[in-house]
Amino acid sequence: MNRSLFISFEGIDGCGKSTQVKMLMNQLDKNDIKSLLVREPGGTPISEEIREVLLKNRDDKMAERTEALLMTASRAQLTQDIIIPSLNSGLIVIADRFKDSTLAYQGGGRGVDLGFLVQLNEFATYDLDPDITFFIDITSEEGRKRQSNGDLDRIENAGLSFQEKVREQYLKLAHMFSHRFIIIDGVLSPDEIHQKIWSEIQNRKSL
Ligand code: ADP
Repeated sequence: MNRSLFISFEGIDGCGKSTQVKMLMNQLDKNDIKSLLVREPGGTPISEEIREVLLKNRDDKMAERTEALLMTASRAQLTQDIIIPSLNSGLIVIADRFKDSTLAYQGGGRGVDLGFLVQLNEFATYDLDPDITFFIDITSEEGRKRQSNGDLDRIENAGLSFQEKVREQYLKLAHMFSHRFIIIDGVLSPDEIHQKIWSEIQNRKSL
C-alpha cells in the first residue's frame, strides 16, 4: 500500500454506522491491515469532555451556534492529535462521523448557514477531507425503530422531523461531494452492506 486511507461513515442516528465500522475493522484485521477507529464527537480527552457537554440531555436549550462551535472544536482536537499523525504513520483511519455530520446536523437540521459551516470545518480540520465517505441512508422512521431499545442522547432526542431534515441534507452533500460520497441503501442486511463497502474500498486501493 502506498499511502494511508481516510474513510468516514455518515448517516442519521440508527442507520447502522457502528455496525459497519466494526465489520470493516474486522475485515481489515483479517487482512493484516492496520487501522484506527475514531468516533465523533470525542476521541481525545478534551474532545470527550466536549462530547459530554454536547450530548447530555438538559433543561436549558443549547444555541445552534454553540452546538456548531463545540462540534468543530472537538473535531479540531481529534484531527490534530490523532487523525493527521495516524494517517502520516500509514494507518487507515476510520471515522464514525466527521465533517459532513456538522453540515448535515447543524446545517440541515438546525439551520446554521452552510457556507459558514464549510469554512469552519476547513479551519477545524486543516482542510483534511476523507478519501471515501460512506453515507448509509435510511428513513427517519427506520432510524427511530432501530433505536427504540436504548437511552437517547440530546441530539438523538431532537425528533423525527429533525432527523428527516438531516437526511435530506446528507443527500444534498452526497451530490455536492460526489467525488468521495458513496450512498448505501441502509435497509439492506448488515452483510450485504459490508460487502458493498469492502468492494468499494478494494476498488479504490490495492489492499
Ligand atoms: P448507528 O451507529 O448508525 O447509530 P448502529 O450500528 O448502532 O447505528 O445500529 C442501530 C441498530 O440497528 C442496532 O440495533 C443494529 O443492530 C441495527 N442495525 C444495524 N445495521 C442494520 C441493518 N443493516 N439492518 C437492520 N438493522 C440494523
